[in-house]
Amino acid sequence: MYHFRWLQVALFSILLTTFFSSFKAQAEPISMWQSPYKELILQTAKAPTEVLQKLLKQTPTQEQNYLQHGQYHSVLSIIYYSLTYPKEALQHAQTALTFIDPSTQPWLFHMTKLNEARALDLSGKPKEGLAASNAALVWAELNKDINLRVSALYVRGIISNSMLDYQSALSDLQLAYELAPQTELHSQGDVAGVLALVYEYRREDALAIPFFQEAVHFHEQNQNYLELSIALYGLGRAHKNIGNIEIGRTQLQQSQDLAEQVGDEQGVAYALKELAGILLLEKRFIEARAKLQQASSIFQKSQNVYMLLDTNLSLLRVAIAEKNIELGKQYLAAAQANVDPEQMPLQNISLEEMNAKLLALEGKHRQAFELLDSTVFLKQRILSQQSTQQLHSLRSKYEIEIKDRENKLLEQKNASQQISINDVETKNLQLLMLFGATLIICGLLIVMVYRTIQNRTKLEELANVDGLTGLANRRNALELLQKQIDLAHRHKFQLSVAIIDIDLFKKINDTFGHASGDEVLTKFGELCQDTFRQTDVMGRIGGEEFVIVFPHTSLHDAEQTLKLLSHNVKKLPISFDLNGLTLSISIGLTEYVAGMTLENLMLQCDSALYQAKGSGRDQIVIFDSQNPSSMQLAL
Ligand code: GH3
Ligand code: MG
Ligand code: MG
Repeated sequence: MYHFRWLQVALFSILLTTFFSSFKAQAEPISMWQSPYKELILQTAKAPTEVLQKLLKQTPTQEQNYLQHGQYHSVLSIIYYSLTYPKEALQHAQTALTFIDPSTQPWLFHMTKLNEARALDLSGKPKEGLAASNAALVWAELNKDINLRVSALYVRGIISNSMLDYQSALSDLQLAYELAPQTELHSQGDVAGVLALVYEYRREDALAIPFFQEAVHFHEQNQNYLELSIALYGLGRAHKNIGNIEIGRTQLQQSQDLAEQVGDEQGVAYALKELAGILLLEKRFIEARAKLQQASSIFQKSQNVYMLLDTNLSLLRVAIAEKNIELGKQYLAAAQANVDPEQMPLQNISLEEMNAKLLALEGKHRQAFELLDSTVFLKQRILSQQSTQQLHSLRSKYEIEIKDRENKLLEQKNASQQISINDVETKNLQLLMLFGATLIICGLLIVMVYRTIQNRTKLEELANVDGLTGLANRRNALELLQKQIDLAHRHKFQLSVAIIDIDLFKKINDTFGHASGDEVLTKFGELCQDTFRQTDVMGRIGGEEFVIVFPHTSLHDAEQTLKLLSHNVKKLPISFDLNGLTLSISIGLTEYVAGMTLENLMLQCDSALYQAKGSGRDQIVIFDSQNPSSMQLAL
């Protein structure tokens, strides 16, 4: 029992999934014709009748979904349109629309509405398709669908042309022409043909010719015989209109042959009608009428109202030229049957004019005059309506252009302001950078100057100071001594000078090594700096020989200080053991007496020192000028 329930649930869910997936498949929106419709559409230009036959045999079955049915009828509408069967084109577009839900298939919906719109245009009701082509264009632009956009521009261009709004037609078709290379469904050659048609409608055949030629060239290369026949028809007619009768005739004849070849009956009729026009110009009325009647019966079959009207008008012209009133009346009636004065006011006026001519032929001049009079008034009103329309559109175009220009000017102004702001900013930045660089350079200069001063001081120090003892070197010491001599001489102050020699220094070197000797010298230098005043001059004038200059100092005071030094030398704090040896110094002391030279002073010091050495070292001898040989011994 439970198993059975489970089976039921499983089956139900499978059914549900299948249902939803098929629903989803149907709801998937398309943005391009599906296969095989896309291929068939592209083939239509080459072999329209074959495509039509093929398609008519492929009616979708009941099982196929709405999407298939919708596309099928929409494509049929396209093919009937290209073969100029307005009724069938309209019918199939409308059938297609019954299968298409605009909310789930917006692309197909708009494309089919465009097919309906151009079928309506071909049926003489251009206005009725205008809203649909606008809607399709808006949708295509919003959804960035280039294929649909160009299709919409193309259809709206054709409609505007039929509504005699050539300016709108040209602007739509020129845009379609520019965009065509980006699409899969259209080509410039395609659009060129219709563009040329608008120029022709504007009676600017010379302008139409290059576009027709482009279309001919394009379709020739692509072997699109149907389209080629249509383009040749246009080209031939344009040549005919500008007076190139023979070229026109040849091209129209080619168009007729090609149309026959591809089974385009309408195409044959179009060419026949134009060829008849040439015959009419040449006053070959019988031949002209034959061709026109042949064309008329074809247009009658397809219910091509425009062309029926056109052909009947031409037949009417022939009848008038032949002064055949009865026949004229018949053609007039046939033409009038195809004109809805509301929808085709200008064509209606042409008919009234022809009617007036017929009346005149009958001798009913008064009636003819009144009729002509009323048509003139109507014509004037339509033309003035047209020109006001043109004026309005020109004016709005002009205003839009002015606004555009103003906007562009503003943009330029903004851009130039932005540039000048940027300029100022750049200049400020440059100034800032310059300032920064200057600061850095100044800093560097200051550092360099400082370093130079430092170096110079160091150099000066090196040049003046003895490296080992930190006292003045010999040259500096003697200079300083000279200065003190001069000062003492000038200011008459006391000046004592001593030369100190370390006793038996050689022995220290020999016993403890040169480095130990150096240490003794260094320590002795320090002791001197600790013992004497800052104002005293202390210098190393030989290996272990020093000079001390005592300004403002008497012999006695100098002697006292030197005694202290001698005492302290013995306790010099050195790092090694002197091994029983004692450090001592011998000193020669003297004082400056006015007029003495440096050399005298030094000699006296040396002499006293010599005596100190000779008397057993470790003593101070004061130079005695009276008795140099018995100098005063201090220690
Ligand atoms: P005296 O008591 O007669 O002066 O005997 P002395 O040995 O001190 O004199 P002497 O002139 O014979 O020797 C001086 C020694 O000093 C000789 C030299 O090698 C040494 N001397 C000179 N300059 C330096 C120095 O810068 N460092 C060291 N360690 N020794 C030096
Ligand atoms: Mg010596
Ligand atoms: Mg010595």
